Amino acid sequence: MCAEPRQPQPSASLYIHVPFCRSKCGYCAFYSEPLRQHALDAYLPLLLDEIALWAERLGRLRVPTLFFGGGTPSLLPPDHLARIMETLRARFDLAPDAEISMEANPESAGPEFLDAARSLGVNRLSLGVQSFRDEELALLGRPHSARQAAEAYARARAAGFANVGLDLIWGLPGQRESQWLESLRRAVLLVPEHLSCYGLTLEPGTPLAEGPEERRTLPPERELAHMYLHTGELLEDAGYLQYEISNYARLGQACRHNQACWEGRDYLGLGPAAASTLGPYRWTNPEDLDAWAELVRTRRIGQHQRETLSPETRAQERLMLALRTTKGLDLAEYRTLSGQNLLTRHAGIIQALRQKELVRLQQGRLRLTRTGMLVSSSIIRALGFE
Ligand code: SF4
Repeated sequence: MCAEPRQPQPSASLYIHVPFCRSKCGYCAFYSEPLRQHALDAYLPLLLDEIALWAERLGRLRVPTLFFGGGTPSLLPPDHLARIMETLRARFDLAPDAEISMEANPESAGPEFLDAARSLGVNRLSLGVQSFRDEELALLGRPHSARQAAEAYARARAAGFANVGLDLIWGLPGQRESQWLESLRRAVLLVPEHLSCYGLTLEPGTPLAEGPEERRTLPPERELAHMYLHTGELLEDAGYLQYEISNYARLGQACRHNQACWEGRDYLGLGPAAASTLGPYRWTNPEDLDAWAELVRTRRIGQHQRETLSPETRAQERLMLALRTTKGLDLAEYRTLSGQNLLTRHAGIIQALRQKELVRLQQGRLRLTRTGMLVSSSIIRALGFE
């Protein structure tokens, strides 16, 4: 008797959006709601139902990485977090070595929360520091001081977190390079495992973008370019490896969850505003608690903004995401996905980019140099989105 061939167990990274914040930061365009107890209490059972629904549809999904983002996940009461983790473990196969990341804000990451998160299996903390200069934190509308950020970091270590990342923002209105590097050095002195350094973008509709001109005038291009290039040099000297345009980590401490997304692997997003890609399907939950709740209650979750990605779109996305990383684009894989040889299709552009030392070709991969990363959007447009 022949045994049935075994179907491989489906696998996907999980993202959980916790859509509550104490106050709205001046630059923020992410979906979040002001923290209200009744909304928080309503969110929990719906999220548990959403997990159960997907488990019914997908079976025992193998989960190599789980990421709690927001919003402010550190506002979750510890008993809510316990219920979420218990339900996830009951419904899915969380890998024994799963990376479980959580974003936290300094003012809400208290010892009780951090101890609970650690004991529930969260093993990577991403602390939203943004700056170590109080006047910059005030400009950004952050509800904490630099000292509070350093204290939260110490609390995370005391709670037993061996993998802590700090998120910083550079290129603020009126900021000089020396001021940015001062924040960055203070971050490095804390010896985190991971650093994310994002250039500020003024998103239309945010208080910062709509505020007085002197508070929304970014530093000149030349200064921004120096900030970016010197960030990479400073962090490299301090032992951090750049692995994506804005992300640096000690050896072996890159965020596996984000890497999986950049490598085009499947991910399932839960909670309002969370996006998912499973196979050729992509959808995004509504950016509204009530609309999301309605979809969960009526079991129509997964239908909002749903699209089927064409092979061409998938190939374009692969190129765009891979070029953001220092690994670069595997040209053979791209050829299989798109049916096109990038090197012959864009021979002239690639030659010009190589001459300007904006890209490198090594071992069958096309990579952006650090200077190339400065103008990544234009390069990606030229290569993938004509
Ligand atoms: S804490 Fe994060 S998600 Fe919340 S308002 Fe600030 S930047 Fe946005």
